[in-house]
Amino acid sequence: MLVVMSKSATEQHVKDVCTAISQLGFEARPMPGEQRTAIGVVGNDRRVDDSHIRGLPGVANVIHVSAPYKQVSREWRQDRTVIELTNGVRIGGDEVVVMAGPCAVESEEKLLEVAALVAKSGATILRGGAYKPRTSPYSFQGLGVDGLKILAKARAQYGLAIITEAIDHASADAVAEYADIVQIGARNMQNFALLKHVGSLGRPVMLKRGMSATMKEWLLAAEYILNAGNPNVILCERGIRSFDSATRNVMDITAVALAKTLTHLPIVADPAHATGRRDMVAPVARASIAVGADGVMVETHPRPNEALSDGPQSLYPQQLDDLIGQLRQISEMLGRPLGQLSR
Ligand code: PEP
Ligand code: MN
Repeated sequence: MLVVMSKSATEQHVKDVCTAISQLGFEARPMPGEQRTAIGVVGNDRRVDDSHIRGLPGVANVIHVSAPYKQVSREWRQDRTVIELTNGVRIGGDEVVVMAGPCAVESEEKLLEVAALVAKSGATILRGGAYKPRTSPYSFQGLGVDGLKILAKARAQYGLAIITEAIDHASADAVAEYADIVQIGARNMQNFALLKHVGSLGRPVMLKRGMSATMKEWLLAAEYILNAGNPNVILCERGIRSFDSATRNVMDITAVALAKTLTHLPIVADPAHATGRRDMVAPVARASIAVGADGVMVETHPRPNEALSDGPQSLYPQQLDDLIGQLRQISEMLGRPLGQLSR
């Protein structure tokens, strides 16, 4: 339930409504806005009798949120969530963002080489896994904290923001210390203990859609993070499993457009993990921006054939440059500039 206060409501009115909500046994979450304050009610799993609240001074309206997820829903918050990173990059606002980098941080030398290419291409966020959730235990598992230190070095050198994956509590603590955005991968989308934990870390989180997750499950997973106190969540559509194995996964382009109607959170598309094919990355990235994604995440490598993971879907540097040029045109046509580094 959401209590919308009138424009003329005083601080005391807001306080009194919060007290009344607590007395009903629920938690009140005041959300001051430019025009008026809304007060979210959490802790109720069924419809609350609103007759008492409706009659309190300063209350303009009471809205019953119908979706099972609340804090992530558009009903709960009409303004879109805009996340501003320390290098000035904004996600979810007017600008479209490009996140690019290798699947995994492989060595300092290689990461700095790719960071230079990514910065030159016009992308503003560098990706690269230091903790890799690999299907086989015999595949490269990532460099761990050493990888995070390398990413931090690249940020200092090129001004790029850093996004990297956390796979458990310990890696989440380390990632939150070094990176600008904590990535939760598809395999951990319903690791509820981990979601609660990253909700308490105070760093923006990018939550990838689980490979078999419904829209509702995905948004409820995001709800865990918001409910733990972290409003800065980005959704990432990265393809879902289907009967057809022609591509690695199936890009759910509708989910990108649908997310925009259901939630105020930013949404980013990952055409690399969705398709698994380098030649499909650019067309699907273009389509994602065209349907309203706030950004894309792609993989790139100076020599994809030598990549320790996901080489076949990693763009050659020239392909990254070409793609960003195309995304700039599409986003400008939609009235959205491509985000740039301020320096
Ligand atoms: C990744 O981004 O490298 C990754 C492992 O993605 P996903 O969780 O979508 O498979
Ligand atoms: Mn990958």
